[in-house]
Amino acid sequence: MGVLAAASELLELSTKLHKLIPPRSGDIDRTMELREQRLRHLLRYASEKSPFHRRRLQGIDLETCHIEDLPTLSKSEMMANLDDVFTDRSLRREDIEAFISDHANLGVYFKGKYALCHTSGSQGQPALVVQDKHAIITSFAAQFARGNKVKRKFLPHIGRLVNPARMVIITQRPGFYPSSTFFNYFPRVAEPYIKLQRMSVFDPIEEIVQRLNDFQPTFITGYTSSLEYLVREQEAGRLRLREGGKLEQMNSMSEPLPAAVAERIENAFGVHVTNSYSMAECMALSCGCPVCRGSHLNSDLAILEIVDANNRPVPKGTPGSKVLLTNLYNLVQPIIRYEIDDIVTMSATPCACGNLLPLIESVGGRAKDQLWIEINGRSRDLPIYVFLAALDNETNLAEHQILQTGINTFVLRAAAQPGKALSVERLRSYVHQSLASEGIADVVNLEIELVERILPDKSGKVSRAKNLYGPAPDDGEPAPGNSSRVIA
Ligand SMILES: [Zn+2]
Repeated sequence: MGVLAAASELLELSTKLHKLIPPRSGDIDRTMELREQRLRHLLRYASEKSPFHRRRLQGIDLETCHIEDLPTLSKSEMMANLDDVFTDRSLRREDIEAFISDHANLGVYFKGKYALCHTSGSQGQPALVVQDKHAIITSFAAQFARGNKVKRKFLPHIGRLVNPARMVIITQRPGFYPSSTFFNYFPRVAEPYIKLQRMSVFDPIEEIVQRLNDFQPTFITGYTSSLEYLVREQEAGRLRLREGGKLEQMNSMSEPLPAAVAERIENAFGVHVTNSYSMAECMALSCGCPVCRGSHLNSDLAILEIVDANNRPVPKGTPGSKVLLTNLYNLVQPIIRYEIDDIVTMSATPCACGNLLPLIESVGGRAKDQLWIEINGRSRDLPIYVFLAALDNETNLAEHQILQTGINTFVLRAAAQPGKALSVERLRSYVHQSLASEGIADVVNLEIELVERILPDKSGKVSRAKNLYGPAPDDGEPAPGNSSRVIA
């Protein structure tokens, strides 16, 4: 990178950092004003440059319309029309696919200015997402200004040059998947202030422990299951991060973070674990709250509508059936009222941390992963907390996974903590009690498997609840999930 380019990137990053410092009570109108300006700019830009959006926005007054007046966008629609969706008319899906099929291109900007990634396809077909450099810098700035304690140390000053923040990310090996993108394109200008190490859940655990002990990070971000994995090592005395005294914060992403798991992580390491909710289509959607388990919506950068199955808004405190996402800062691939099957609940009360940005209280699993049972010929959702409440009693438990394998048939996989033992009978009796308290003990067939470890799937993630059988035949309103779920 040339000196001029580096200087302009640094200037853009520090200006955005400054602008993204969380709003105080006097600034909230300004935040809403910015959101409004960015929405109008996005609509005008999309209508002018993208043939797909021009068709869809035709006949709508883009200066005065409400967001509800705009058409919703499904992933399959976006992917079927991708070349026409782009506002840079030189972008072609086939060129993008060819570029990301070559791992030598990791971290390289396509055409010198676009960051590329694909989603995992856990919701059906994978989506391709193109972001421009400005969008990438905005995502970083939001994370550093609002997302974690590293922020106050990041602002370039001489002390940080001498003693940079040390960040570890534990996901899978680098690739074009979303959570990797954030780090593939880590701004070079931030390097003097933040030392970054990447680790993979597929690396041998001895190697991960060694590297962490040597590096003594201030901040660790990773899949919930990879943080749980570290808890076991810390508890067994092989990992010594608490002893090192440097660790300030952990962040869980891409997987549910049940309260019991968060507490275990916090007890092991003595630091708060934040929970962030974002996706490839909007990496700067929210930042984990440093006080509670929720995540603050960056409402100046994105609009998140929590709606029922018919796209009608649901009140705060009530889980929706899906969300409609509008990304206000990535103009190359306009994402406007884009449907995502997450069951999100916004908090009805202000957050104790003092941040005035709306609080995403919880994110439940996708509708298709919802567990269900059939009673008297009628299906109903089976919230995972029925199992979690039971498993909370088992203090020797390290990890679990609940699979639905048929109608009313479930498999519980359980792994013990190092040096501890689990008993199938005891687990069965805990689950039985919990099911009985819901009046469904006679309906559920449960098989229990004791395993060494719950292995991640090929994406490096562990689903704590998985429906292998399929959705309920009469797919009614999903029940509130009390596990938090995040995507990356
Ligand atoms: Zn908060």
